[in-house]
Amino acid sequence: MQRAVRGLTLGLLEDLATTFFPGDCRLCAVPLLKLSALPVCEACLAALRPQSETHPGLLCTVCGEALGWESERFLAGRAEPVCTPCRRVPPAFTRAVAFGVYTGEMRTLIGLFKFEGLRVAARPLGRLLASTFVELAPDLDVNRETLVTAVPLFRGKARDRGFNQAEVLAAEALRALHRSHPELRLRPAHGVLARIKQTESQFGLNPRQRRDNLRGAFAVREPALVDGRDVLLVDDIYTTGATARACAAALKRAGAARVFVVTLSRAQTESVALWEMPAHSSYETTHNQVAAGASRRRT
Ligand SMILES: [Zn+2]
Ligand SMILES: [Zn+2]
Repeated sequence: MQRAVRGLTLGLLEDLATTFFPGDCRLCAVPLLKLSALPVCEACLAALRPQSETHPGLLCTVCGEALGWESERFLAGRAEPVCTPCRRVPPAFTRAVAFGVYTGEMRTLIGLFKFEGLRVAARPLGRLLASTFVELAPDLDVNRETLVTAVPLFRGKARDRGFNQAEVLAAEALRALHRSHPELRLRPAHGVLARIKQTESQFGLNPRQRRDNLRGAFAVREPALVDGRDVLLVDDIYTTGATARACAAALKRAGAARVFVVTLSRAQTESVALWEMPAHSSYETTHNQVAAGASRRRT
């Protein structure tokens, strides 16, 4: 009996220890000094920096792709530089902005949030997303409401994961913005867009395959709500922009006035634009060398 009580007490103490003593940072594994609901150290959180600091060069004014490797070509006589894919096939959205680059701590933290159930990461990530909404503020019409909708998941996927990461991040961002920037008049409207086709993972597909994969994938459920309105489309990651382009096209077909895209992070592999270029050009060769260098640095 005494032994049972002692065992029970020890078990309880162990539970208390794991509850009240911080463990290791889930990103860098250093022991945490302070107790926090989010098991991430301050140095890792501080490493989540905006693109303006990590990629201070020129970005495409439409999609946000870094133009550093050919900025002179784009700068020549242009007040607003636009990347080659946006010039060749202009997207249905007006502008896409992202908080940071999808690499390092940002990439790891999004992975933990999305795939390993670290839901508490939504709060700090949502605040970073909110600062990117503010970046778009000058483009928004404050005389009327702007709809905010997350890129939807297919039903089965949402059920498996238990949540739509883009919707959770958008909700956290809106919560912060309703306090700090009520003048923006942002209205959540996640139900307006639906993913009606089960699509393959976009991983490993080139831009053309991504476009084909997403053809007919999105539909507007409530065209009357969207008609004549500006819409902010929210997602966690912008990679080639194929998803954002497909969603924006569906919203525009339903009558949306303008579509803006706001993402927490953005791939800046600086290789995406090249997939669209004719093969064997010197342009491509130069670019592939840049991309190869970038991927070596990342690994
Ligand atoms: Zn850390
Ligand atoms: Zn662009």
